[in-house]
Amino acid sequence: MLRVGLTGGIGSGKSTVARRLVARGAVLVDSDVLAREVVAPGTEGLAEVVDAFGPDVLDPSGALDRPALAAVVFGDPAARALLNAIIHPRVRERSAELIAAAPADAVVVQDIPLLVESGMAPQFSLVVVVHADVEERVRRLALRGTPEADARSRIAAQASDADRRAAADVWLSNDGSQAELEAAVDALWERRLVPFEVNLRERRIAQGAPGLVAPDPEWAAAGERLRARVAAAAGSLGRGVAHVGPTAVPGLPAADVIDLQLGVGSLDDADAVRDALQDTGFPQHPSVGHDPVRPERLHGSADPGRPVALHVRVVDSPGWREALLLRDWLRADADARAEYVARTRTAAGAATGDTAADRAAELQEPWSRTASERAESWAATSAWVPSLD
Ligand code: ADP
Repeated sequence: MLRVGLTGGIGSGKSTVARRLVARGAVLVDSDVLAREVVAPGTEGLAEVVDAFGPDVLDPSGALDRPALAAVVFGDPAARALLNAIIHPRVRERSAELIAAAPADAVVVQDIPLLVESGMAPQFSLVVVVHADVEERVRRLALRGTPEADARSRIAAQASDADRRAAADVWLSNDGSQAELEAAVDALWERRLVPFEVNLRERRIAQGAPGLVAPDPEWAAAGERLRARVAAAAGSLGRGVAHVGPTAVPGLPAADVIDLQLGVGSLDDADAVRDALQDTGFPQHPSVGHDPVRPERLHGSADPGRPVALHVRVVDSPGWREALLLRDWLRADADARAEYVARTRTAAGAATGDTAADRAAELQEPWSRTASERAESWAATSAWVPSLD
C-alpha cells in the first residue's frame, strides 16, 4: 500500500481534498474523526479525560463538553500535554488498526492537521500540503461559522508556510475555485498516486527525467525531505543519510535525480534494510552493483514525480567516502564544477539507460573516474573529513 500524509492549515481545504481522494478510491484515515471517536461516550479515553480534568468537562448528556475542555487547557501547556497524552496514543493505535485493515493495493491517505508540527512527515511515502492565502482561509472559515478572532489565533499557533513547504512533496494551491482544486486532485491521483502505488507494490522503479536540466533550487529541500524519509525507513540499521551527487551541489546542471547515500554497518545490513526501503517507495535496482572495490546496493524511486538514486553503502568504505568527497570538492571548487559540466554535457547525448537513475549514473561516471585523484589532493590540502551535510 501507498501511505500518503495530507495536511495544511485550518481552512486551507484539507477536508475538501480528502473527500475528492476518497471519491477517486483512496482509503481515508482522518485523525480529527479518530480524535473524537477515542473520547466518545462510554470509551476508556473519556474516562481518563474525566479522571484528569474532572466531571465539569462533561455536558449534561455525559458526552465531552469540548468548549469546556478547551477552556481548561487553553494557555496551560501542562494540561494540554496531559490531554494529548490521553488522546494521541489512542489515535495512533486506531490509525494503525485501520491501515492494517486496508487492502494491499490501497492508497491510504492520512489527514493530519498537525503533521508538520508533530514531525511525522518522514513516516509517509508522500506528503501532500494544501495551501490557501490566510485572508481567504479566514473568509471561508467565517462562512462556515468560525469567528474571525478564533480562526486567526489558531492559524498563528500552527506551522508557518515555510515549514509546510519544506515538508511538501506535493503543494496543492487552493486560492482558486473548488472546481480547480478538485481538478488538481484528480491530476495528482491519476498521474502520481495511482502509478506510484502500482510501482511500489510491483517493486518497479518509475521511468522519467531524461538528460541534463538547469539547476533547480528545489533540489536542496527535496534532498532534506528524502534524507529524513530514508532515515525513518532504515530505522536502527541506518547510520546516516546524505544528499550526494550533482543535485547536492548548488548551481550545477544535472539530471533531475536526487542521489542519496544511506550508510550502513555492513552489506548484510544493506540487505536487511532492503524491504523497508522498498515498502517506503524505493525499489531495489535489479542490477546490484558488482564493483568489488565500491560495492553498494542501489535503489530507485517508485514515485513517478520524483526520481531518486539511493546508494546503500558501508560507512567508511571507499565508495561511501568518495561520494561525500566528490560532492564537497565540487561545492568548493569552481574549476572542478566547470569541468564537470563540460564532461557531463558530452555524456548526456549518449546516455541510454532505462531508468532516470541509470542515465544519471552514466552522466556522472566519466568525470568521476578522472576526478578522484584531484579530489583526494584537495581533501589533503583542505583537511577534509567526511560529513553527511
Ligand atoms: P480544512 O479541512 O483544511 O479546514 P476545508 O476543506 O473544510 O478546510 O475548507 C474550509 C472551508 O472552505 C469549507 O467550508 C470549504 O467548503 C471551503 N472551501 C474549500 N476550498 C474552497 C475554494 N477553493 N473556494 C471556496 N471555498 C472553499
